[in-house]
Amino acid sequence: METLPEEKQEMKALLQRRPLVIAGPCSAETEEQVMETALRLKATGKVHALRAGIWKPRTRPGNFEGVGVQGLPWLQKAAAATGLPFGVEVATARQLEDALRHEADFVWIGARTTANPFSVQEVADALKGLALPVLIKNPVNPDMELWTGALERVMKAGITQVALIHRGFSAYGQTDFRNAPMWQLAIEMKRRFPALPFLIDPSHICGNRHLLQEVMQNAIDLDYDGLIIESHRDPDQAWSDASQQITPERLTQMLDGIVWRKEEVLSEEQHLHLQKLRSQIDRLDDELLRLLHDRMKISEQIGEYKKEHNITILQTERWNQILERVCRNGERAGLSKEFITQYYDAIHMESIKHQDAIMNAHE
Ligand code: PEP
Ligand code: MN
Repeated sequence: METLPEEKQEMKALLQRRPLVIAGPCSAETEEQVMETALRLKATGKVHALRAGIWKPRTRPGNFEGVGVQGLPWLQKAAAATGLPFGVEVATARQLEDALRHEADFVWIGARTTANPFSVQEVADALKGLALPVLIKNPVNPDMELWTGALERVMKAGITQVALIHRGFSAYGQTDFRNAPMWQLAIEMKRRFPALPFLIDPSHICGNRHLLQEVMQNAIDLDYDGLIIESHRDPDQAWSDASQQITPERLTQMLDGIVWRKEEVLSEEQHLHLQKLRSQIDRLDDELLRLLHDRMKISEQIGEYKKEHNITILQTERWNQILERVCRNGERAGLSKEFITQYYDAIHMESIKHQDAIMNAHE
């Protein structure tokens, strides 16, 4: 594997910074915009690396699709002026080549690319033999295996400096977010790869400015290692993703507003207090499992009865009644409708499986 030139040695450490802060505009637009944004980000004293999109994957054609390769020298100059490393999104081998020719210090694989194994493999093949940090965003669709697959393809290419970026997932229908965070999926990914740096991209989750702070805090509370966030010298005038970008100065305020929690360094007293609460959670979990077991047993009895009387397993009307009832009661108990629906969908599927096993058992 190629060794890093002297001045890039510090890149080795980049992914080890805690909390790691990567910031920059959604898109590079002009040389001045890149330079001014970079200098103001540097002046915050809180940013470790610059980001900017050069090739922009847009959902619909006709939107601004990035300045292309001409933007890379602008980033190079901004990196030289600030002493900060820079990275861009790459989706093809050609883009990776262009980025490297302009001395990009790291690259990231975007959400639309992660969703496409052909593209990921193309980039991974082009990464072979390089000592380049690669950040991998979650795919647009909530699919753990695709995200894992992209990571595996990159690691198989010999890349050892990898980090994961949680940028939220497409969800059908109206939600508060541009991309629903679906925290449980990110937590599962953290569980699968505990040694990898895990970053939040609050910009693409929120799609607006007012939720950014809250989402950053949620991530820090979940022990994320840092963030990659969009920051622009004049957000309202941005050529892409204007509504979610913030000025470097606003970024400073937001970073100052975060309560940084520490995972390990607890006093004896704090430790005991937490342990008490955690053991209460464990007991309640045992109880929940016992209740679910009892519930399944009753479902099985219903299964036996349906079998005897030749009745279908799924009875939509009954299921609607259950959902309505639990959503109403759940709301009173302070549980969101979204949670109750997902929770009961899972219970329902399991219950159908149990009934199915009974009804289709061979005597
Ligand atoms: C981006 O970071 O500019 C971007 C396009 O993000 P995503 O791939 O998460 O949509
Ligand atoms: Mn963007």
